[in-house]
Amino acid sequence: MLYNELGKTGLKVSRLGFGTMRLPTTNSNADIDTQEASKMLEYGIENGINLIDTAYPYHSETLEGSGNSERFVGEFLAENSYRDDVLLSTKSPSWAIESEDDFQMYLDEQLEKLKTDYIDIYLLHSLTVPDWNKVRDFGVLDFLDDCLSSGVVKHVGFSSHIEVDYLIEIIDEYPKWEVVMTQMNYFDEYYQSGIMGLDYLKDVNIGSMIMEPLRGGRLVNNIPQSVQDIWNMAEVKRTPVEWALQYLWNRDDVDCVLSGMTSLEQVKENIEIASRIDEISEHDQEVIREVAREYRGFVGNRCTRCGYCMPCPHGVDIINCLTEFNIANMLNDPKASAMQYFSLIDDDSRADSCVDCKECIPFCTQMLNIPEELQKVYEYFGSEFDHF
Ligand code: SF4
Ligand code: SF4
Repeated sequence: MLYNELGKTGLKVSRLGFGTMRLPTTNSNADIDTQEASKMLEYGIENGINLIDTAYPYHSETLEGSGNSERFVGEFLAENSYRDDVLLSTKSPSWAIESEDDFQMYLDEQLEKLKTDYIDIYLLHSLTVPDWNKVRDFGVLDFLDDCLSSGVVKHVGFSSHIEVDYLIEIIDEYPKWEVVMTQMNYFDEYYQSGIMGLDYLKDVNIGSMIMEPLRGGRLVNNIPQSVQDIWNMAEVKRTPVEWALQYLWNRDDVDCVLSGMTSLEQVKENIEIASRIDEISEHDQEVIREVAREYRGFVGNRCTRCGYCMPCPHGVDIINCLTEFNIANMLNDPKASAMQYFSLIDDDSRADSCVDCKECIPFCTQMLNIPEELQKVYEYFGSEFDHF
């Protein structure tokens, strides 16, 4: 295993972190196959992974409830006396905070679930701009100050899917942020905060933890033949997983890549890849860019995310509805796409909230019939997440 400094935390982290949102399950998403998942975690820790990432809702029956991932991780670490050998990262459910007391209430519940009295890295989970304004008004920074002073939390940060301008704004508001988790892979360089966000994190020496390195598996499963043909033309032969991970580990602004692994084979494969230096050459970069271009050719609509149609008077998040539909088409994995569509876009802002008033149509720079495009999005995703 190879290790990186995590920004200014002083921590050395394995460059592969163990994400625990896609552990193997028996029936529903909440039923973790603890026997198999234990084998995976044990193999990971014994072979050098020293960062385990979980979150309040991972492995719950819904996208936002109290999940079993924290319970499983807590029991596993306690039973096997691994707690002090690993860095434990978890997240406060920022969307669920309704009063200033809620921060402590959730933290207490998480400490109990995790069977520990300290958390190494505590992140505000999936911060959106409205949630950031809300938690700041409820005094989240005082709460984090107290957590750091008492030592119950060692390092604080946030995870987010927001655009780079907002990311920078939030970072600049609190000098004690030490870690930020953002989405990044070769397909998403200019999506959400992307490479500009990573660049800023490096500038201000904040540790970067990367989520969605394989885009929920979409960059490695159901590979279109035309994409495989491009990989086959590369001088150095790699599997799609190797391409995706080595692309990230060759970046000097990436500290830790979190992979949500679902089988022991994946753990073994990822550790093997994480343990060797594999330089991505200029030629390789061009191959990767070509693959990203090929994926983009499968778009579902021509939306360029220019934003001229916004805001919709009925609250529809036109840009992200059309974008998630595009990505779903490009990467051909409805389940993983639906997870992003339903978790990133509020209930009242999805395609099914469009009332077909047509007010947005004259503003579209691409001359899209937006309500018709939204109807396609609705037909594809439906109105409820039912992919567990
Ligand atoms: S047609 Fe739909 S998306 Fe466009 S403005 Fe009306 S409600 Fe909003
Ligand atoms: S105006 Fe058209 S192209 Fe621009 S974001 Fe809206 S739908 Fe997309």
